[in-house]
Amino acid sequence: DNILSVQNLSFAYDESKSILKDVNFSVNRGEILALLGNNGAGKSTLCKVITGIEKESSGDIIFLGKSIIKNSIKRRGEKIGFVMQNPNHMITQETLLEEVQFGLKIRGVKDFTEKAEKALEICGLHEFRHWPVTSLSYGQKKRLTIAAILALEPEVLILDEPTAGQDYKRYKEFMNFIKEIANKGVGIILITHDMHLALEYANRAIVLCNGTIIANNSPSIILGEKELMEKSNLKETSLSQ
Ligand code: ADP
Ligand code: MG
Ligand code: MG
Repeated sequence: DNILSVQNLSFAYDESKSILKDVNFSVNRGEILALLGNNGAGKSTLCKVITGIEKESSGDIIFLGKSIIKNSIKRRGEKIGFVMQNPNHMITQETLLEEVQFGLKIRGVKDFTEKAEKALEICGLHEFRHWPVTSLSYGQKKRLTIAAILALEPEVLILDEPTAGQDYKRYKEFMNFIKEIANKGVGIILITHDMHLALEYANRAIVLCNGTIIANNSPSIILGEKELMEKSNLKETSLSQ
């Protein structure tokens, strides 16, 4: 039930320093896969290569059995939703509703208002739909960017540090919501450096360290491997309650 698979993927921003080295992993339907790694490990870069924002130097990316490395960012975005680390880099419209409608309109979706309203409701933002985006908190903005991507009904959803900037209550609510999305059959890649989050919500975790995957296992097993945790600079828990 493999949806997306990354094969021997390598990448460098400039030739003198490789950032991703022979990365291999896959994500299954309905699975929450945590992508762990300390700051600078290459997590965000990996997502940019998968979504076509950056071009791999070698390797392949397979979506439902077919290579997508020749596909444009736009084409990949029809099936692979990517919610960037910083929501301010994604928001372009004035009100919440307009923001979610925007992507749907570009794709020529007919019932774009209905779909946008539904996504806003799922993300707990429906009552604010006519508000200006600038009135939202950082955490609410993150949820808005997720609503905009979800409205497009991706089969793979990549979330780059989605819980950063959310308070504890929101964080739980949000993660339960992500679980529901996975239960609908979406494959989720959840980027985090929070081991506690992975332990509680992910089905499996991969650990990226200096551009190489050094573990692919259940979060509880990874947590138990002291050397691995030290090498990858992962904290046992970084959740402040
Ligand atoms: P992470 O998301 O795991 O914190 P990044 O993918 O952001 O890591 O960064 C991986 C490495 O690539 C870091 O050494 C970072 O400095 C470098 N890097 C990130 N973006 C760029 C860029 N646009 N140009 C050059 N180097 C970059
Ligand atoms: Mg970083
Ligand atoms: Mg990052």
